[in-house]
Amino acid sequence: MLKSKASQNSLDQRNATRLRVLEHIRTKGSISRIDIASALQTSPATVTAATADLISAGLVRETEGEAHSRSAKRGRPRVLLQLDGPSYLVAGLKVARQVISVILVDFEGNEVTSHMYALQDARMSPRDFVRTVRLALEETCAKIDRTIDGLSGVSIGIAGLVDAERNFVHWSSSITERNVNFAAFLDEGLPCPAFIENDANLVAKAEQLFGLGKGLSNFLVVTIEHGVGLGIVLDGKLFRGNHGCGAEFGHAKVQLDGALCQCGQRGCLEAYVGDYALIREMTVAGQSSALETVSDIHDRAHAGDQRAISVLARAGQMFGLGLSNLINLFAPDCIILSGARVSFEHLCSDDVMARIRNGVVNVDTALPEIKVHHWGDLMWAKGAAAYGIEQVSILKVQEIAAHAS
Ligand SMILES: [Zn+2]
Repeated sequence: MLKSKASQNSLDQRNATRLRVLEHIRTKGSISRIDIASALQTSPATVTAATADLISAGLVRETEGEAHSRSAKRGRPRVLLQLDGPSYLVAGLKVARQVISVILVDFEGNEVTSHMYALQDARMSPRDFVRTVRLALEETCAKIDRTIDGLSGVSIGIAGLVDAERNFVHWSSSITERNVNFAAFLDEGLPCPAFIENDANLVAKAEQLFGLGKGLSNFLVVTIEHGVGLGIVLDGKLFRGNHGCGAEFGHAKVQLDGALCQCGQRGCLEAYVGDYALIREMTVAGQSSALETVSDIHDRAHAGDQRAISVLARAGQMFGLGLSNLINLFAPDCIILSGARVSFEHLCSDDVMARIRNGVVNVDTALPEIKVHHWGDLMWAKGAAAYGIEQVSILKVQEIAAHAS
């Protein structure tokens, strides 16, 4: 089995065709060879060769569809192709501060099982991190009487600056060291290919594949939890930038020499908007007793607590400023505020919308739609699983070529 990192860029022409055919089958659910050929504007012979390879690799299988109207008289059923769902088991994980959420999916993306693994430490050394991921996976697989040797791929989402192409983590609030080449640790600690990616990018992937970003070419996903993340989809593709890290919206500066951020710099957006920042503001004000979550701050604000009201209002103002900058930079079709918790109201209030409108330079066109998407706890893990399926597809297609040569 290939354990090296998958890369779409390194595919040759034949593999690229196989992958396009595979992804088209995934998009359509089930489809005939001739319809694939016409959709991809390629010859039926090319599609026949590609699907034969995909079938022999166990990625795709034939099913019988409705009979063709013309051939119905002869009773010949139409042969369709669909993904071979049960053939591969892929794990998606999100490592948060207190918990690792894990989801196991089949090759079609159907959930097989899920699990929440409680974390002892919010920050770990790279080796402990991989060891902990392995334990979380073992517990998850045990729920369906499987072992982690049965996994075809593991995809891990964490906060921070991640070069997904190289499995390289420049910085993460979950890791005690900077500039860690995780490829070696993952190879050593896990029995199957593993992929590490920025968590906001994974949420953008999930929104694109099965969320509010479906069918949109240009959209932004802003995630708000402990920190603030951004996933950028431009022309239908996830934008990762030169170093593979995408965008760090949470560390965009909104105040010169402002509040201290967890990254070590000052004036970052998330130093005003992230969960830790709100809790810190309340703690500084001497109201830390029994105050553990942002929901507690909302409760206090609803009860008329002036400090809570002003902390949330300032977060909203800073957030509005940040979003207006995003609109000025990207002119997206839509901005999706994505998160597992429900306490977003202070970030999309009328005051925040007014701040955005004031900050957007093109006043003659309507603002992009700003949608709030409350996912369940497994949002991030589902995004990770989607990325895992994509990477496993690339690896399996590469294996076809390796076997053929
Ligand atoms: Zn920062």
